Order: sequence, then C-alpha cells, then structure tokens
Amino acid sequence: MKIIMLGAPGAGKGTQAKKLAAKYDIPHISTGDIFRANIKKGTELGTKAKVYMDQGLLVPDELVVDLVVDRFKEPDCQQGYVLDGFPRTIPQAKALDEALAKSGDAVEYAIDVDVPDANIISRMAGRRACINCGGTYHVETIPPKQEGICDVCGGELVLREDDKPETVEKRLKVYHEQTQPLIEYYQGKNILKSVDGTKDLELVFKDIIDIVEA
Ligand code: ADP
Ligand code: ADP
Ligand code: ZN
Repeated sequence: MKIIMLGAPGAGKGTQAKKLAAKYDIPHISTGDIFRANIKKGTELGTKAKVYMDQGLLVPDELVVDLVVDRFKEPDCQQGYVLDGFPRTIPQAKALDEALAKSGDAVEYAIDVDVPDANIISRMAGRRACINCGGTYHVETIPPKQEGICDVCGGELVLREDDKPETVEKRLKVYHEQTQPLIEYYQGKNILKSVDGTKDLELVFKDIIDIVEA
C-alpha cells in the first residue's frame, strides 16, 4: 500500500499517517521528522534544512528528493509506506513518480486531509511534540494523560519553534502557493481522495480506512 498524505500544515497528516502505518504495519515516512532528527544530530543536512524550516520556508527540492528515494530502498518498504509531508512541490511529485516508475511502481492513494485555514492557527498553537520520540498531542483536542509528558516514552512535550503564530502564517502561505497545486496534480492521475479533517481524529481515520479498503 503506497499512500501519500496531503494537507496544510497542522491538518492532521502526521496523526493519521502514524495510525495507518500501525494498522497496516508499513513505515511512516515523514520528511519533517527526518529533518528534525538530522538537526538534533547536528548533521550537515540538518544544518542546511534548519535555515529554511525556521523561516517557515520549504527546504529546497534537491535536499529532499534523494533522501526519500533512498529511504524506499530499505527492506521495510517492500509492502508499501505512508508518506507524510512529501511531496510538497510539483517537482517533488514528478521526481517521486519517475523514481517509482523505474521499478514499475506508482503511488496508489493521495489522501488530502482538508482543514480550512481558520482552524489551522489553533491546531498549531495547541500542538505539542515530544522532544524524544516525535509523538504529537494537542493541548485541547488530544491531550497527553499527564500535562507536558509524552504518553509513549515519558519525554518532554514542547511547542515547535515553527508552530509559533508568525511562522504558521508564513507556512500557510507557502502551502497555498507551492503544495496545494498537488491536489490538482493527483486529481489528474485519478488517485486523489479527500477527507474532512475537521472531524474527530477517529472519524477522520475511519474515512481514510474506508478509502483504502474500498
Ligand atoms: P507539518 O507537520 O506542520 O506539516 P513538517 O514536520 O512536515 O510540518 O515539516 C516541517 C518543515 O520541514 C516544513 O515547514 C519545511 O520547512 C520542511 N519540510 C518537510 N518536508 C518537506 C518537503 N517535502 N519539502 C520541503 N521542505 C520540507
Ligand atoms: P500535520 O502532520 O498535518 O502537520 P498533526 O498530525 O501534527 O498535523 O496535527 C496537528 C495538530 O492537531 C496536533 O496538535 C494534533 O494533535 C491535532 N490534531 C490532529 N488531528 C486532529 C483532529 N482530527 N481533531 C483535532 N485535533 C487534531
Ligand atoms: Zn515521546
């Protein structure tokens, strides 16, 4: 099962991608998580990516594409994967199609988690991420059992630097300009499916399951 999650920052792509990955026992590949792990380790890639991420801009395509294409070659990707946060530009989508075509493969579903801009600011302001495992919570809608502590690993929960309102506005603008055109791109390939991302987490998940099991 090869699935792409589309949607604005904060739409709930990551939350749903993790649930899908767990249900179907396939890897969840998040380019944002890969970059954050590289920043934490202090790699050259991390240092380069951070400059863009901090400003709410996209990391240049050439720093992203090979990373993802290489990840597919790992053995755990045999049965498929859920891509979260990639592709984010038309050139990335084309590069992905080309890389998959080489092995006679293609993306099966592009699932757009649709949430209006008006809801995004509060989604992001309330998002808390575990500094240890990357687990994601929301102070109001999806709180951890104990405030400030990750349910899974006990790590500290923090507001991501790029989730502050000033940066979120910039990221939304970038989303509309560079990422939203992918909706039409995948519509053209007849694999676009949309779900209403404003519903409760479990209801959104059910809608996605209905799509991939139809
Ligand atoms: P969100 O979950 O809010 O959508 P991500 O964790 O996916 O955010 O991404 C955080 C940041 O990492 C983005 O704002 C961008 O700077 C960078 N990034 C992640 N994936 C990509 C990508 N495919 N192309 C370019 N930049 C990316
Ligand atoms: P994305 O990966 O698209 O940036 P996340 O999955 O990190 O988005 O979700 C953004 C924020 O919204 C997080 O704080 C998350 O806990 C919360 N969230 C996710 N799905 C829902 C939902 N269906 N209803 C309410 N809050 C949600
Ligand atoms: Zn954790």
